[in-house]
Amino acid sequence: MNTFFIEFRDPLFSIIVFFALVFVITFFSYWWGRYRRNEDSRHLDRFLRQFRSLPSKNELKILITKGDLSEKSWLLLAQSYIKNGDYEKSIEIYTELLTIRDKSNYRDTMFLLGRTYFKAGFLERAKQIFLEILKTNPRTPQALHYLLLVYEYLRDYKSALEVLEPLDELDKDIKKDAIYLESLALLHDTSFSKDEKAYQLLKLYNKTHQFTYLVFEYLFRVNPKLAWENFDSSKSDLLTDILWQVDKKDLDLDIILQNGYLRELYSARGDISEANESSVFEFDVLINLKSKVNVTLSFEYMCDGCKQMFPFAFTRCSNCHSIDTTRVEFSLSKDYHRDFSEENNSFQ
Ligand SMILES: [Zn+2]
Repeated sequence: MNTFFIEFRDPLFSIIVFFALVFVITFFSYWWGRYRRNEDSRHLDRFLRQFRSLPSKNELKILITKGDLSEKSWLLLAQSYIKNGDYEKSIEIYTELLTIRDKSNYRDTMFLLGRTYFKAGFLERAKQIFLEILKTNPRTPQALHYLLLVYEYLRDYKSALEVLEPLDELDKDIKKDAIYLESLALLHDTSFSKDEKAYQLLKLYNKTHQFTYLVFEYLFRVNPKLAWENFDSSKSDLLTDILWQVDKKDLDLDIILQNGYLRELYSARGDISEANESSVFEFDVLINLKSKVNVTLSFEYMCDGCKQMFPFAFTRCSNCHSIDTTRVEFSLSKDYHRDFSEENNSFQ
């Protein structure tokens, strides 16, 4: 029986103890290393998570009132939130900054808050902010300008026209805005019929000769005959997309045949064959293709003020807010409409 037990002084016992100790130390150091690695990774995750998630409203309140960052830093941060499209966060920052009530920047922060409300589409709130600024500082052109935009977007043209008065007193050029707002007021007046609006709009256009695109887009849509009767051929290239979309039955061939640009445009569209070539590359290609290929014109609109491109026509640029600065750009593209109608015909 004793042969199974190792003597305390037996050298074999020391070897077993030695290996047991080596095993325990190796196991412990492996476990400790693993634990540290996990702990480091968890700590790093926790550290990075605070940058991934935006501070909550309460966190912002505490951070701003603690005053660790200067007001300028908060304004820069709010601006970067706006650039990323996070209007909500920048509104929270401006609102908290306003509660600190540092009178030196109070009006500027109010203006920035109003502008952010406007950009975010909270027009009523923006209106209240700009009216509040103007109550104490009526000669603030920036606030007046944004109030005008707010009224225009709210389709309150009467109030927008009233804002022009103080802007005029501040020597701001308001002529274009006045004509534009008058035209919009007329177009949205429900007491007039479409034809009455067309005649009134034309009357205004003959007086001012401004907003050609706005006027002729409406005329060609509502009363093409009236549009052709008052058409100014020198403005043809400005209205290329509108002319391209005029229904074939509404074309006035007498006027079209008298003007080189119109002859080339409608020859390119395939309605007439009165031009064999064109100095406009896109028209020239279409004239030579003679409707054999599925190609048409596609349009984009550039603002001459800020050079931004838009997929739709506009009178007031939504980026820089300048008016009547649209320039139509066109290029050749696949005619999906023809594809679709051919597909439909194939089932008949
Ligand atoms: Zn623009």
